[in-house]
Amino acid sequence: MTARRVTIEVGVVVGRREIGGCFAGSFRTPAGEILTGPFVLSSGPPSPPAPPPRDPFAPPGGGLPAGIEPPGVWLQTRSHRRFLPPSECRFSPLDRAVFSLDAVVIGVNFHWERRERQTFQGGLTVRRDNDGLLTAINEIDMEDYLASVISSEMAATAPVEFLKAHAVMSRSWLLAMLERKDRESGGGSAHSPGGVARGGGDGRRNGMDGDGHRNGMDGGAPAAGEGEAGRETDEGGLDSPEEIVKWYGREDHADFDVCADDHCQRYQGVTKIVSPQVREAVDATRGMVLVYGGRICDARYHKACGGRTEDFANVWEGRSVPYLTSVADGPGDFPSLTTEAAAADWIASSPEAYCNIADTAFLRRILPAFDQETPDFFRWEVSHEREEMEALLKEKSGIDFGELLHLKPLRRGPSGRIVRLEISGTRRRVIVGKELEIRRWLSPSHLYSSAFVVDAEKDAGGGIRRFVLRGAGWGHGVGLCQIGAAAMAIRGFSMEAILGHYFPGAALRKI
Ligand SMILES: [Zn+2]
Ligand SMILES: [Zn+2]
Repeated sequence: MTARRVTIEVGVVVGRREIGGCFAGSFRTPAGEILTGPFVLSSGPPSPPAPPPRDPFAPPGGGLPAGIEPPGVWLQTRSHRRFLPPSECRFSPLDRAVFSLDAVVIGVNFHWERRERQTFQGGLTVRRDNDGLLTAINEIDMEDYLASVISSEMAATAPVEFLKAHAVMSRSWLLAMLERKDRESGGGSAHSPGGVARGGGDGRRNGMDGDGHRNGMDGGAPAAGEGEAGRETDEGGLDSPEEIVKWYGREDHADFDVCADDHCQRYQGVTKIVSPQVREAVDATRGMVLVYGGRICDARYHKACGGRTEDFANVWEGRSVPYLTSVADGPGDFPSLTTEAAAADWIASSPEAYCNIADTAFLRRILPAFDQETPDFFRWEVSHEREEMEALLKEKSGIDFGELLHLKPLRRGPSGRIVRLEISGTRRRVIVGKELEIRRWLSPSHLYSSAFVVDAEKDAGGGIRRFVLRGAGWGHGVGLCQIGAAAMAIRGFSMEAILGHYFPGAALRKI
C-alpha cells in the first residue's frame, strides 16, 4: 500500500427505481454530451410509455420488443427524456461542479433514520441491476471522502486532536477494507489514481456489518438483504434451547467500495460544511494509519461505550484482535462487567468515564445535529408492557414465544454488553446473540446497545406486567468511543494518546 492518491466509489443511493437530483454546473457523459440542471433517472420507461428512443444513445435496433426492459436507465432532464445504455450512465464534473441527490436515506433502520437531499463532489455513476433497481455511486478522492466522513460523523467544531485521531482511524479502516477487498478479489490493484478498475464485481462475501457496525462502527443498520450473517451454534443436549447466535460481519459491497451510511462510514457528501479544522486534521495526518503486526488496523469505532469498550470477539466472529480488546474508558480502571451483579451496579452508577457527558454545550460542539437528539446515550432506559414485548419479538424475530416468562442474560462481555440472551416463553425458548441481533429483536428499531439489565415488573397476581431495560452506551462498543475520544481531546490529550488509549498496541505509521 502506498500513499498514492486513491479514488473510491461510494454507494450513496441503493435499490431505487427512480433517483432524482440536480447537476449544479456541467457534467459530461462518456459520449461527450453536457448535462446541467434537474434530472430524474429511472429504471422503467416513464409513463405514459415513451416512444422508442430515437437518439444517438438509443440501443441498437431502435426500440425493444414489448415486455423486455432495457438494461440501461431512462434519463429525464428539463428539456427531454431518453434512454441511456449502461456505458453512458456515468457523469463527470467539469470545473469542480457538484451534484445533489434527493431523499438520500441515512441511519437506515436506526432510531435516527431520515431522508435528506445531499450534495456531492466528484463523479456520478448509476447502475441498474437485473431487478430494475438503481444504485447511484459517487466517485471521489479518498482524502476528500475522509474530510466529509469526519464532518458527517461528528461536528466540525470538535477539538482538532480528536478530528486528527478520527482521520487516522477512518483512513485505516478504509485502507484495511480496500486491501482486503483487493486480496479477496484475486489480488491486483483495483484502486488506482484517477479511476477504479471494476470487473464483474468481487462476488459476494459475507457479512454485512451492521450497526454501523460499520466498519463496524456502530451506528448503521444491516444493509437489507446483503450478505450472510456469521453464525455460531453451541452444541447442546437434547433439552437445550434453540440457539440463534449470529453476528453481522462486514459485508464488503460488491458494486462499490463503501456505502454512505453507518454500515460503512457515515458520508454525506459536501452537504455538511467541511470546516477548516477538519481539512487541517485530514491534511495534517495525510497518509497516516494505525498498524499492528505489520498490517493496517481494521479500526472500528462507535458513539459511546458506556464506560468500558468491548472485545471484538463478543461482537463479530470469535477471534481475538489484540488492538480491539476492552479498555476502561476513563482516567482510572473500571471493573470488567461480565457478571450480572457487576453489570447491574455499573449501569446504576455514573462512573467518571470519558463518555459520561451530560453537558449539552459540549455535545453540541462535538455531535452532528441529529445525534444530539440522543442525549441519554451514557445511561438509558426503555420499557415495554409484556404483551407489547411479545408482539415486538414476534415481529422482529419471526418467533412466537407465547407468554413471555423471562429475558435472561447468559453471557456478557467486559463492557457489560450481552453476548447471549435467553428468551423464554410458554411456547419457545431461544438463545439469541450476538449484540446486534439482540438489539434488533428487542426494539422497534435497534436498542442503543446490548449492555442492559432486565427488570421484569410483576402485577398483583405475580405475573409479569412489564419489562424495563436499563442500559449503558450507544453502539457495539468496540474500538474507539467517539464521544469519549472527543472528551479526551478537550482534556488535552493528543491524537497519539487518544489512539493509543482505544487501540492498545497499535502504532502510527505514515504510508
Ligand atoms: Zn456499507
Ligand atoms: Zn466511552
